[in-house]
Amino acid sequence: MLTIDGSFGEGGGQILRSSLALAMVTGRPFRIARIRAGRKKPGLMRQHLTAVQAAAQISQADVRGADIGSTAVEFHPRQVRPGEYAFGTGTAGSTTLVLQTILPALLTASGPTRLTFEGGTHNPFAPPFDFLAKAFIPLVNRMGPKVSVELERPGFYPAGGGKFTVCIEPAKALKGFELTERGQIIRRCGRAVVSHLPAHIAEREIKVLCKGTNWDKSCFSIEEITNSRGPGNIVIIEVEAENVTEVFTGFGEVGRSAEAVATLALQSYQRWLKAAVPVGEYLADQIMLPLAIAGQGRFLTLPLSRHSTTHVDLIRQFLDLELAVERLDPDRCEVRIE
Ligand code: ATP
Repeated sequence: MLTIDGSFGEGGGQILRSSLALAMVTGRPFRIARIRAGRKKPGLMRQHLTAVQAAAQISQADVRGADIGSTAVEFHPRQVRPGEYAFGTGTAGSTTLVLQTILPALLTASGPTRLTFEGGTHNPFAPPFDFLAKAFIPLVNRMGPKVSVELERPGFYPAGGGKFTVCIEPAKALKGFELTERGQIIRRCGRAVVSHLPAHIAEREIKVLCKGTNWDKSCFSIEEITNSRGPGNIVIIEVEAENVTEVFTGFGEVGRSAEAVATLALQSYQRWLKAAVPVGEYLADQIMLPLAIAGQGRFLTLPLSRHSTTHVDLIRQFLDLELAVERLDPDRCEVRIE
């Protein structure tokens, strides 16, 4: 049985989630110890526990150690069973990260699947729903399956209570892709979203985006969400290019000014734009998993984050493939899977 050290590299939750995803896809059992040893509160938090339980339910796995706070888990998957499932992360644990754990196995399952998630949909340090819908899922669909996602209501940290559904039409096998050029930018927009917070926050954020991008005023909008459980604020910059759509976000939090929230989104957009790569920092670490499962792919991205290099190391432990990372210059690197 494969033994994974949950403390290596960044020592975060993705080591566990991607181990679950890869175990489901390959049928290989694993034992992971020192889960999230690199974090302030190590062990399984609600989001991670939900990911383990969801993976176990779908792959009919035998599991040991699936409890809140647990630092070791053993996972023995059996056959992946498509169908209809609902998962909740309690209050505001990230539901998008739970989806990313179970999605790879369902992409090539023996039938379609419909998933419902309840919990956080717009959490700091996790892919917000908009990133999932506009940046990540379209690349997954390029690999053969047909996945659609629909947001019923957003759930912001800490109140949570969001809900979304996912429909998956699987493919026989995943096919890789090459994404080495961004192409012309054909659409761009900047949105400031507030939920149960004063509209002036969003207005100040849009001002920062206007000034920082020099885009036409028609590219910007303010959204006031009324059907969510608690307060929240997010700034979303979406850029659709010929070959890829990227989404950059800044999250509001207590003590962070509206201007600082917008600046966070703006800076990650500007870094991507300047490097002239198609794939941004977060999309790189997320898309490398399905590409590795497909066994073939190539993309250009920013220099890999520690998060991504940890992910590369983990994927190499599960899959027998050539996963090469080459630094092209200070701003860009190429990831190749063969
Ligand atoms: P831990 O609590 O141990 O830090 P975690 O389970 O919250 O871990 P990480 O291991 O930090 O998760 O992984 C977070 C994931 O969220 C990564 O895949 C990262 O790409 C993604 N992510 C974080 N912020 C964003 C963002 N703004 N846009 C898109 N994706 C994001």
